Amino acid sequence: MKVLVVGANGQVGKHLVKFIQDTEHMEAKAMIRKEEQASYFKDLGAEPVIVDLESGPDTIAEAFDGVDAVVFTAGSGPNTGPDKTMMIDLDAAVKTIEAAKHKGVKRYVMISSFDTTREAIQSAPESFAPYVVAKHYADDWLRKTDLDHTIIHPGMLNNEGGTGQVEAAETVERGEIPREDVARIILETLQNDSTIGKEFQVVGGSTSVEDAVKSL
Ligand code: NAP
Repeated sequence: MKVLVVGANGQVGKHLVKFIQDTEHMEAKAMIRKEEQASYFKDLGAEPVIVDLESGPDTIAEAFDGVDAVVFTAGSGPNTGPDKTMMIDLDAAVKTIEAAKHKGVKRYVMISSFDTTREAIQSAPESFAPYVVAKHYADDWLRKTDLDHTIIHPGMLNNEGGTGQVEAAETVERGEIPREDVARIILETLQNDSTIGKEFQVVGGSTSVEDAVKSL
């Protein structure tokens, strides 16, 4: 299975590409935006593809050639304003969903935010609300497609070492999760078709990633 990782140079993305390359039956196509980012992925044996997510839909769709699944783990990050939130967390996400449809890439895994409900928008602090809005509508766009999708809602991400132990369910108590464990749960999701059509929240916990995904 060849997996297009959108946002591959991100903190979750880099773990994910490595985990994919460590499997025997999967390989990653790493979507990055700068030539100088490519060597990390080439060294892992992954195929880099350089595309700025603010590009037009046709340019983005070209990166979908030859892949079987896509993971969206890009993000505008906390150091940019609502303009980039609109361009990346919403518009780029929708462009990749449309590209998947157009190119016949059925499997789509979205890394969303912990709570993207209407209630979460209304109760978010003013500076955070545009991000929740973007994630809310991107998730909703994906739900309304016939793609084989899974929407993952991780808690607050940290850079502690992964433990491989999580708590995952439709709703869980708010908490933190290492980015490495988010990458593990994405990998497990890609390998379990029982996750198709589902969405779940995930935080650090005491169940192995494998068992947590099986129990969904
Ligand atoms: P990250 O490290 O900020 O990575 C985001 C990636 O998106 C970066 O590689 C960045 O590229 C890429 N990107 C941004 N704009 C782009 C553009 N115009 N063209 C191409 N690529 C672009 O994110 P993370 O911490 O791994 O988070 C992964 C996902 O989890 C995100 O979707 C985030 O919204 C979501 N999430 C975050 C939290 C949290 O607590 N932070 C909680 C739940 C969910 P460069 O490397 O070139 O900058």
